Amino acid sequence: MWLVCRSNIPHSAGVGFEGWTLVCRKCSSGRLEKFNTEMNFHFPGWNGLEKPTVWVFPEVAVCLNCGFAEFSMPEGELHELAEGVQNTE
Ligand SMILES: [Zn+2]
Repeated sequence: MWLVCRSNIPHSAGVGFEGWTLVCRKCSSGRLEKFNTEMNFHFPGWNGLEKPTVWVFPEVAVCLNCGFAEFSMPEGELHELAEGVQNTE
């Protein structure tokens, strides 16, 4: 998501976020919606099949125009993925 100003008011006027809109970073559409999700991450390669998966329940922003989606990995689960990937190499 990008935060884009669609206002004609100069930024120096101190308008805060008035006139700003979240838009898709792929197609620039403003048709973004957030969804609660559950994702189950599997580690890559044959060794990854033997490792426990990592469940994540992020809020995902989806562009209802082009389908592009994004989210931030929570810190704890990010650490689990980083550790798991290191041990499969
Ligand atoms: Zn889009």
